[in-house]
Amino acid sequence: MKRIFIPFALIIGATACGISTQQEVQMGQEEAAQINQQLPLVRDAEINRYINLLGDQIASRTSRADLDWRFYVVDAAEVNAFAVPGGYVYVNRGLVERTDRMDELAGVLGHEIGHVVLRHTVKQMEKMQGANIGVTLACVLTNVCNSGLAQAGINIAGTAVFAKFSRGDEAEADAQAVKNTVAAGIDPHGVITMFEKLIAERKSRPDAVSAFFATHPGEEDRIVAAQAEINKYPASSLRNLTTNTTNYNSFRARIRSLPPSPPPRAQ
Ligand SMILES: [Zn+2]
Repeated sequence: MKRIFIPFALIIGATACGISTQQEVQMGQEEAAQINQQLPLVRDAEINRYINLLGDQIASRTSRADLDWRFYVVDAAEVNAFAVPGGYVYVNRGLVERTDRMDELAGVLGHEIGHVVLRHTVKQMEKMQGANIGVTLACVLTNVCNSGLAQAGINIAGTAVFAKFSRGDEAEADAQAVKNTVAAGIDPHGVITMFEKLIAERKSRPDAVSAFFATHPGEEDRIVAAQAEINKYPASSLRNLTTNTTNYNSFRARIRSLPPSPPPRAQ
């Protein structure tokens, strides 16, 4: 038992009549404040400036541009990314270091932004009922697209509850990744090449990416589906999109120059 405190009373009160944007933002703020205390974040100003510039470039073209979006690099070697309601997006350094071009990092951000835009966590919360609601919701929030956090687990009456996004939610977030990157003028093919890279690594070094696949179900089928999303755009509209920038190259070089990530904390 540990980690992230969830304002149960607030959540339970909120679910009775649907969760408003204001409530979502408030929950997200409290959740993010806890995460920011408990996870090792990269504090380098240049790195944070770039991840927020790129994130805002994408988020500002979505239907939820009004949220106060914040983007963080978690100083963890494990490959993973997750989002918190209200517009908080976290990408592990291990995932950032596996990107080779700006459009690949943008694809990851576009996917996590998509979960927030479509209110996936909020919808899960709204569906939940019953006495376990507080506990279950805590699990939903702490396990969003993430199993580094999920290993915490929450055990009530001998039953560990792990909630995460469904395959359907993941497919929707992938479609959002394509849509959000294109809208931001970024080549959506980074979504595909990133998947290919992680799937290849899964075959050679499964431990390195197991957390990512635990929370992002689906494999080759997601590549096919993402390609189908890209194919919906006329070729002419994809022609002049950006695949890479010198700012991204500087960002990635700077990330790689940091001292090694701290070992994972005992959960
Ligand atoms: Zn996801």
